[in-house]
Amino acid sequence: MFSPSLGKLTSYKDGDLVIAVCKEKVLFPFKNIEKHLDMQVMDIGIYNGKRVVCLNLPHLEEGVSIRALFAEAELEVAHIAALASHLAWWRATYKHCPICAKPLKEHDLERCLRCEECGENFYPVICPAVIVLVVKDEKILLAHNTRFPSGRYSLIAGFVEAGENLEDAVRRELMEELGIKVKNLRYLESQPWPFPNSLMIAFAAQWESGELKPDGLEIEQAAWYAYNDKLPDLPPPGSVARRLIDGFITQHR
Ligand SMILES: [Zn+2]
Repeated sequence: MFSPSLGKLTSYKDGDLVIAVCKEKVLFPFKNIEKHLDMQVMDIGIYNGKRVVCLNLPHLEEGVSIRALFAEAELEVAHIAALASHLAWWRATYKHCPICAKPLKEHDLERCLRCEECGENFYPVICPAVIVLVVKDEKILLAHNTRFPSGRYSLIAGFVEAGENLEDAVRRELMEELGIKVKNLRYLESQPWPFPNSLMIAFAAQWESGELKPDGLEIEQAAWYAYNDKLPDLPPPGSVARRLIDGFITQHR
């Protein structure tokens, strides 16, 4: 059982469980702490009665990607990895006040950093992104994004913009990238997506109107696929996209 803490910087103590983090890779538990005793670690929480501390390293030879952990590890271990990775990024990025540039200090009672000069608190940055399973006549929309590996198709996703609600973000992304309108939006699930600081929020929607016209900038190809069609290369297990696609196939089989 894991209970998170405030994420304060501290020193390693005998008996701590160490999670080593390097960008999108983690190693848990990390055993070679002796080489890094001069580095500060971050108190992440208590896991099965032991304190978990995060060591943010510039290089990590071993370790696995957090994406792989999402697919294969126990839910709590994936949660610890996602939290450690997100907080490590945040603490490495937020060292000085964005207003007056004075060094930020840890808040005593909350997981936030405080500028004593301005009196402002700075909380971990979380960037919401939406992802949507669009269905038309028992077929789902899959698209190839220019950032994907060759042949890979997935669901449409994008970041929520300032002043926008989640449903508007879904509608805007589909209109901008493919020129289609959807209806009957329904919330499905969400998942922390620490690459480095997102929260992925998943919706289902029904196609309403418009032909698929990929914008050529973000989306190169898009098509409707039935559950029993030969599917293209899909995102790896552990991602929200893959879980939604697999869920659609299982439901219709
Ligand atoms: Zn300040």
